[in-house]
This record gives sequence, structure tokens and C-alpha cells, in this order.
Amino acid sequence: MAEKYTGVKFQIGKNALEKRPAAESNMDIVREMILCAKILSRFGWAPANAGNISARIKDGMLIKATGCEMGNLKPGDFTLVKEIDLEKFILKKAIGLKTPSSETPMHYLIYKERKDVNSVIHVHDEALLKKEVYEKLKINCTKREFPYGSKESAEAAFKVLRNKKIAILKNHGVVSVGVGVGDAMQNILEAHERILRL
Ligand SMILES: [Zn+2]
Repeated sequence: MAEKYTGVKFQIGKNALEKRPAAESNMDIVREMILCAKILSRFGWAPANAGNISARIKDGMLIKATGCEMGNLKPGDFTLVKEIDLEKFILKKAIGLKTPSSETPMHYLIYKERKDVNSVIHVHDEALLKKEVYEKLKINCTKREFPYGSKESAEAAFKVLRNKKIAILKNHGVVSVGVGVGDAMQNILEAHERILRL
């Protein structure tokens, strides 16, 4: 059921997306993202088209396109995002065959402010969303719930993540960051291992 969208929504600027494949010159990192997304999806943490994955490369960030399934990504499902106007919340420059994920600004903001981060993963992981679980694991959670992909959501995610490796978006999902793609995935797996030990 479609709910009323109340936040500032990410817009694609006119002529911002240059329609050509983006993955070709970065196939190693694309393969790594495809594999990690598949693993997380197998756990059931990326239902339907939920979740997104990205990696910093030298000329921007490669991110999953919107409308693609985490468990079944192809190289053509990644878009190279070069520039976003975070004030106006609009995509300025990108290369790819598909529109980048609606949660792209959250990834972009994290890369901009966290030079230690080279990969960001967001999944809808129900088990970690329970208050008693994330509190026991000492994982920060946003104070409130925001419409997905909104400016408010991106800013709140960044704020709550601070210098940490993982954070919870209230009633929505988890965001994990790492020095590499495998590292960002590992944080999510580790949080689950810790749930087992609670
Ligand atoms: Zn989400």
C-alpha cells in the first residue's frame, strides 16, 4: 500500500544521468558487491527490491540501481554517481544504464564525511530492528522513523552512525560501513552472531 510521502525526496537532475554502462572498468569491486549482496539476500535481509550496496571508487561511487533485486544483481545494475547537490537533494552527475537507488544520498553523505569508509550497505534486517536487541548490542538507532530515501532519513542515518561501523534506521533497516565491501558485510554478519550470544 502506498503511504503518503512526507520527506524531501531525491530527484534526478535533468540530463544528470549519462546512459552508458558504468561497471566495466571496475569489475573486481562490482563482482564483490554482487557476491556480498547475494549473501545478505540469502539471509532474507533484502526482500523484493529492498536494500542497497555501494563502493567508493576513484571517480565517485558505484551504487545499486533502483528497482533491482539484491540477490540477483548484474554489472548493468550499478550506476556511477559522481555528484549530488545535498542541499537541493538532486543528482547532478552520474553514469549508468539505470537510475541510482533512492537511498543514494545517504551513501554519498557518508563517503563525503567519512574518509575511512569505502563501502556502504543498507539492508532491511528485521532481527536487528528490535529495540531490546540493538540496545543490548549497543548499536545506535535514529530517534525516529523517516520516509525511506528522504533527506531527513539520510541526515539522521549519518548523524546516528557518527564514527561507528553500523547503525539502525528506526523501524526500517540497518546501515553498515567498512573499509571495503566485505568488511561492511561482515559488520552485519557479526551483529547477528552477537544476537545469538545474547
Ligand atoms: Zn531501506
